[in-house]
Amino acid sequence: MILGDVCTRNCRFCGVTKGKPSITNIHEPEKIAEIITKIGLKHCVLTSVTRDDLSDGGAKIWHDTIVTVKEKNPQITIEALIPDFNGDVDSLNLVIASKPNIISHNLETVRRLTHEIRIKAQYDVSLFVIKTIAESVIKAKSGIMLGIGETLDEIKETMDDLLQQNCRIITIGQYLQPTRNNIPVVKYYTPEEFHEIEQIGLQKGFLHIESGPLVRSSYHAEKHV
Ligand code: SF4
Repeated sequence: MILGDVCTRNCRFCGVTKGKPSITNIHEPEKIAEIITKIGLKHCVLTSVTRDDLSDGGAKIWHDTIVTVKEKNPQITIEALIPDFNGDVDSLNLVIASKPNIISHNLETVRRLTHEIRIKAQYDVSLFVIKTIAESVIKAKSGIMLGIGETLDEIKETMDDLLQQNCRIITIGQYLQPTRNNIPVVKYYTPEEFHEIEQIGLQKGFLHIESGPLVRSSYHAEKHV
């Protein structure tokens, strides 16, 4: 996770520390590239907190990190799990220009619950981010959590919305409450229900679906390349 460990948003499902981030580390791209080389990763998923305090939302650090990681690790494949950059096209294009193999942006939940649990994020801005990625040369991916109070019809609508943006890779996992201060779990889905939802998605036209109780954004991520 780049751009620090303090997020300027306060999504109600998320356990990341919220508040005022410290100064950006301009040496982060080299540091990340070095550690990836040291570990010997073949595939990596980079993500970040949301940095609404920065004029570019952190897009320059995102760009430089991906470029530097690729320079130092020519064989590596990269997924960039990005924030919404408030829908800023210049920031999005900067990340796209660094050419990771996949760019993912999570819708997290259905339209009706977005304002309630993502607070500052907007469902349509996220769809725009996903559309912008899908219209570029980079593959688009998204993810949602289940168990927050969504209905099956709403899950299907969310799938349709993603497919309309030409996003055909999705992860679907069970929401788990990270701390007492986060929203409670409304429903625990069974593995069979996750399987049924996966089948619905495949019939609708998704190419890759990771659907299961323990699935998270990076689950089997290397397969999506
Ligand atoms: S924007 Fe991302 S990191 Fe920040 S609170 Fe929301 S989910 Fe957590």
